[in-house]
Amino acid sequence: MKYRDLQIQTQREFPSNMRREGFGWLVRAGYMTRENEILPLGKQAIEHLKSLASQPNFISLLSLPVIANQQETFFPITTGSIEVIHCPSCGYASRKEISQFKKIPFPTEEQLPIEKVLTPDCHTIESLAKFLGIPEEKTAKALMFTRIVDNKFIFVVVRGDMQLSEAKLKKLIGDFRLGISEEIVKAGAAAGYASPIGLKDALIVVDDLIPQSANLVAGANEAGFHLKNTNYGRDYTAEITADIVMANAGDACLNCGSKLDLVNAELLADKKDFQFEIILNALAETHHDEKGLTFPKPIASFDVYLMQVPGKEMDTRSKAEEIYDALRSADISVLFDDRDERAGVKFNDADLIGCPIRVTVGEKNLKEGMVELKPRKEKANILVRIENLVEEIKK
Ligand SMILES: [Zn+2]
Repeated sequence: MKYRDLQIQTQREFPSNMRREGFGWLVRAGYMTRENEILPLGKQAIEHLKSLASQPNFISLLSLPVIANQQETFFPITTGSIEVIHCPSCGYASRKEISQFKKIPFPTEEQLPIEKVLTPDCHTIESLAKFLGIPEEKTAKALMFTRIVDNKFIFVVVRGDMQLSEAKLKKLIGDFRLGISEEIVKAGAAAGYASPIGLKDALIVVDDLIPQSANLVAGANEAGFHLKNTNYGRDYTAEITADIVMANAGDACLNCGSKLDLVNAELLADKKDFQFEIILNALAETHHDEKGLTFPKPIASFDVYLMQVPGKEMDTRSKAEEIYDALRSADISVLFDDRDERAGVKFNDADLIGCPIRVTVGEKNLKEGMVELKPRKEKANILVRIENLVEEIKK
């Protein structure tokens, strides 16, 4: 392709709305606008990625620091909107909402008698734990919902230090919504002070760690009061006991016991689709230096950035055209900078756009039958005889 056909417009400055460097380089190199519209050069890059995507090793060709499981491949980036739990030791990766971890039960302790205590203004686990001077893990967190299909009141208990996974709960009971105060009162509970003890017509679902957690503080179903030493089995039972919480940073990996990380990420691929625009952004984020993009060889949409420097005596342009044709017939993809610009402008653009190799056709070297070849990621140029150019590029 020729530079002018693609109407490439590089930018001197990073866009002011740049949230991440990769996006900034794509805008500066003319792949997209600062409004996130894909320009012809970007379309070319995405078409090229699409043509590679049928290869089974496509993701590894991208040379990105991905984290993945059987279903999904993620690109970690702080601005990413998806929270992923990741084990740096064994590679376990899961969206946070369905993540698993190794639950560590308390040491066994004797079940103590229930004790009702006054706990004014303790509507949250945090305030309750603080007020009683106990760790959050010694409390039972209550969550109340109503199942959509039959209006069944759902009472959920997880340990106070854990977070309910609504996705896991939905798998167990179907769609639900938050319980409203009338429904909570009707079931015999009290918002902010609720426990599953003594409820009417409620479907009780507890996390599988609850039966192994003795003497938890739970609500007394009476405003302002809690119960110390509630025990599953003795004081209440559940219709469903299952894993309904999600992992957090620092939890132990279910597979290997190492500490899990919480990572922000973007989805690059799932079983059905690749997100090519996100892949292009991830490539730019990963493959750049202080001058521009540095796309690796199979991923760059063009193998070669070909440019000519106008000569005083020789027609460098027609020689460059000849080389352009020769490279293309050797199945090398070429971006030919066919503008009448100064060499410096072209060098800058070549660095910005990031083709793996730059070939410069200049008068001085042409006289010796040579052109200059510069790998994008190396500092030095080499001179190559024109007849050896194809071979040298394919090396
Ligand atoms: Zn692990």
